[in-house]
Formats: sequence, structure tokens, C-alpha cells
Amino acid sequence: MKISDQPVLLVTGGSRGIGAAVCLSAAEHGWAVAVNYASNRPAADAVVAAIAQAGGTAVAVEGDVGSEAGVSAIFDAVDKAFGRLDGLVNNAGIVGMPARIDEITPERLDRMLRVNVSGSILCAAAAVRRMSVRHGGKGGVIVNISSMAAVLGSAGQYVDYAASKGAIDSFTIGLSREVASDGIRVNAVRPGIIDTELHASGGLPDRARELSPSVPLKRPGTAQEVADAVLYLLSPSSSYVTGAILNVSGGR
Ligand code: NAD
Repeated sequence: MKISDQPVLLVTGGSRGIGAAVCLSAAEHGWAVAVNYASNRPAADAVVAAIAQAGGTAVAVEGDVGSEAGVSAIFDAVDKAFGRLDGLVNNAGIVGMPARIDEITPERLDRMLRVNVSGSILCAAAAVRRMSVRHGGKGGVIVNISSMAAVLGSAGQYVDYAASKGAIDSFTIGLSREVASDGIRVNAVRPGIIDTELHASGGLPDRARELSPSVPLKRPGTAQEVADAVLYLLSPSSSYVTGAILNVSGGR
């Protein structure tokens, strides 16, 4: 177990998209980064290599947040690599193929809730055990990645996904109040339409471009624009902000 002065951040699903942008920006801001990935080791290694090349510190950490064993493996690996934890970004998330409620299977729903909801809650629990001043930690910060779907509902596309993000909003509010006296701030970011591979994974590769006219700022956001909001919530600049849910949605 190694312990250094550098604060350590775990980013779930950090190998691409918004998660990768958060990892790279966090490293630039002085965090040592644990880049979690579920299966794409080369993609996580590429993020780690980019951070190392820029003079930062990072390790790739394997584990499926949708399983209890996966969450344990992730945190064991962080303990082994760094011996401390100061921040968590619950970024890993999945959508499903566009489907009406009458087409949603129990298997799909189970996986969606396991990854998006249980994964975030189990990771936060493991992080609180390490960061809370109640457990001998130094305090810390958690940022949950919600979605504008939580308030818009995603009718006709994936109401199950929207509901899972609604759960993240409620969890953010409750957890922020519960662990404020543990020295931990908890906030969320609600991205709108962001140009990442998420849409293709949900069978709608042109979704970001097609929905642009409905966005008041008339364009999709970038992963970096979401990462910038996350970095603010991770930083001491937001020291009096907890329980907040920040829309990064171009006004959508
Ligand atoms: P993405 O698909 O590029 O990234 C998601 C990442 O999570 C991937 O690296 C994926 O491998 C990882 N992941 C998925 N399941 C996992 C699991 N079980 N364990 C560990 N990692 C897992 O999409 P993105 O757009 O970068 O999404 C990041 C977050 O932002 C998600 O929570 C998503 O719901 C949210 N979000 C995205 C948008 C958007 O328009 N792109 C909008 C609102 C919210």
C-alpha cells in the first residue's frame, strides 16, 4: 500500500466519453486518478498513458460496477495502488435500445438499475467508508453523473434510463445531507445531449446531431464541457456547495 500527498480520484467508466475527459482534466488539476473500466482495457490504458505523458499519475482499475464483486475489486485495486481515496465520480452508466414501456424486459431493467443505480450507491458506500472522518479518513468529495433525462423522462426512448437517473438525483440530495458531517460533499451533474458514443450504444448514433435544434444553445455539448463542471464540483472552489444538481445541458 502506497500513500502519497497527492489526492486520489476514482472515476467509474473512465475509459471513454465523459469519464475519460474527467480523468484527463482531474490529472491536470493535480489528482492521481484511478481509471475504472469494465472490459476495454486498451481504452483505459490509453487514458492512463495520456495522463502519464502529461506528467500525471494514473492507474487502470478493472471492475463491473453492476456487480458487488466488481465494486469490491475496484476499491481493492485503488487501496493497493494508492492507499487513500479523496474523490469519487460515479460516471459509469448505460442506456438501452429505444423501447416503449411494453417492450422493456425484466433483464434489461435489472441490468439498467444494477449499473446506473446500485453501482453508484455501492461505489459511494465504499468511498464513504474510506473518506469519512468518522472512519478515520480525511473527508472527500463525490460527484454523481445524472442526466437531464431525470427531469425530461425520455418518453418513447428509455423511460427506464430516465427513472434510473431520477434515482441518482434523489440519492445525491439524501447522501449530501447524510455525510456532510463526515467531511464529504456530494453533488451531481445533469448532462443534456453530449456528443459521445453513448448514443450509438443505445442504437441512435445520430441522436446528438438530430436533437441539436431542440437545444436552446443549438448544439450538443462536449465531454470536456461536462468534465469542466465536474472539476468545479471536485475542487475547493465549490467548498460551500453540497446537494446541488448542476444542469450542463445548453439550456435543454
Ligand atoms: P459512454 O458510453 O461513452 O461512457 C460510459 C462509460 O461507462 C463507458 O466507458 C462504459 O464502458 C462504462 N461502463 C458502462 N457500464 C459499466 C459497468 N458496469 N462498470 C464499469 N463501467 C461501465 O457514455 P458517456 O456519454 O460518456 O456517459 C457517461 C455518463 O454520462 C453516463 O452515466 C451517462 O448516463 C451520462 N450521460 C450522458 C449523456 C450523453 O448525452 N452522452 C447525457 C446525460 C447523461
